[in-house]
Amino acid sequence: MKNNEIFKMPNRYSVSGRSSTITAAVWKSIMPFKEPTIEQIEDCLATLGMSTENVHCAYCGAKNWSSWDHLFAVVKGKEYTGYVTDIFNLVPACSKCNSSKGNSNWKEWMKRGTGSSPASRVEKKRLDSLIRRLDAFVSKYDSENRRLDMKPFERDKEKLKKEKDSINKHLEAIQNSCDVLQRKIQDEYERQFTTP
Ligand SMILES: [Zn+2]
Repeated sequence: MKNNEIFKMPNRYSVSGRSSTITAAVWKSIMPFKEPTIEQIEDCLATLGMSTENVHCAYCGAKNWSSWDHLFAVVKGKEYTGYVTDIFNLVPACSKCNSSKGNSNWKEWMKRGTGSSPASRVEKKRLDSLIRRLDAFVSKYDSENRRLDMKPFERDKEKLKKEKDSINKHLEAIQNSCDVLQRKIQDEYERQFTTP
């Protein structure tokens, strides 16, 4: 076994790297939320070929679903897309699919076959059937068009964006200070610690 197969260095931390998290959090904080009724949950599950007793990941079919994922991304290109958190834009997903999909178009991502997308893990026939179910879902509830026109809120959004950008500038300044101090501490580490 090679070194790089058994050892995995933890990622380096970064403060400024959190800026996209903040951007996403800001836009996710302004979108509407609507709790579904039990009838709506049952209806949506049936459309996806599932039932309340039998739920699986809508993207790869895995039994270990962990959350309901936005089918159409709420944040894309650092902007709020106008999509919402209601059951007609949510499908059960496993954590592997959830983190792999990100804000990609669901169908392109499912067929992509790179990274951890369903095409890389699920056989073609199963994949096609999962895609057909999702297509039926999108067309039944008009999910792709359940998107708010944000023009009336443009001024409010611009104000919010400025506030968000000022936070991100602070993060960059903090990152610079971190980098300077990290170099000093790294030097001290190299000086004090010998390799056994
Ligand atoms: Zn999955």
